[in-house]
Amino acid sequence: MAEGYSVLHTSGGYAIVDPDGRVGKARYGNRAGAETRCENLTQALKDGKKKRRPCITCGTKILSDGPHHRMCNPCRTRSDDAPYVFGPRRGRAGVRS
Ligand SMILES: [Zn+2]
Repeated sequence: MAEGYSVLHTSGGYAIVDPDGRVGKARYGNRAGAETRCENLTQALKDGKKKRRPCITCGTKILSDGPHHRMCNPCRTRSDDAPYVFGPRRGRAGVRS
């Protein structure tokens, strides 16, 4: 299978599917717009602008948009959803200010 992006028609509009089969969050109102975006992304891939990198959290190979993009989608979603407080906070015990 040739590596590249494809267009998927979803209930919310047209979405871009990356070469790993992940559906992008962006929705396009028409197929032409999605296909144009798709071609640009595929071209960027061929030009080597996008690289496969291992996710910094789980090591899964992801298609990175650049040095800032180092987590796979599941890990990014998890870290977005994760609560900032892990467990109950305990009064003043051990707190120094
Ligand atoms: Zn990951």
